[in-house]
Amino acid sequence: MKMPKKIRTYCKYCGKHTLQEIEKVKKGRQSSLNWIARQKKRRQGIGNMGKFSKVPGGEKPTRRVNIRYRCTECKKAYTRPTFRASRFELVEV
Ligand SMILES: [Zn+2]
Repeated sequence: MKMPKKIRTYCKYCGKHTLQEIEKVKKGRQSSLNWIARQKKRRQGIGNMGKFSKVPGGEKPTRRVNIRYRCTECKKAYTRPTFRASRFELVEV
């Protein structure tokens, strides 16, 4: 999927349509302090690992794209409900 780098759409801060830049957002590295990480660490070793013994494998055909909209007028950024696409590109218009 191709998407223009700048689109004119509604800004919830300005309350009107403004020109907005689209930024790709990378998923941050997962913190090691969350619950699932501790569970996995505890279940490493011999024996039944509960729900971690069945590890689903393979790449999925599509990925959810993480994009952020930044308003050029108020300089505020926000996200919208994401969608899935196999390839995602930002193109100059
Ligand atoms: Zn705005």
